[in-house]
Amino acid sequence: MHEFGYCEGVLDVIERRAGGRRVAAVGVRVGALHRVVPAAFQQSFHLVAAGGVADGAVTVLTTVPARATCSACGTPFESVDSMPACPSCANVVLDLEGGDELVLEWVEYSADGGDPDVSRDSR
Ligand SMILES: [Zn+2]
Repeated sequence: MHEFGYCEGVLDVIERRAGGRRVAAVGVRVGALHRVVPAAFQQSFHLVAAGGVADGAVTVLTTVPARATCSACGTPFESVDSMPACPSCANVVLDLEGGDELVLEWVEYSADGGDPDVSRDSR
């Protein structure tokens, strides 16, 4: 499950940003080319975050499409597919741009009482 490694990287950033606050939810932008399965990501995150400030936090993934240009017919298109093919000629040799990011987008903290707080820390 390659989601595990991604979670560890993201958790590092979360813990540095949280500075000891309890984390209720996080938003992560994931490029389509990473082939991340949201359910697997959430599951891995629970394991990686257990016992820390983000224990039990919900992960909200936004899949970022890759921009591609067909090398055969020049058709530009966007795809959330991990193995995109040209919609016009089905060619799979493409110039790809984007779709490979993995960015922590926002962190939502919870009050110690357990109720989710509204303080959303976005950049
Ligand atoms: Zn094409």
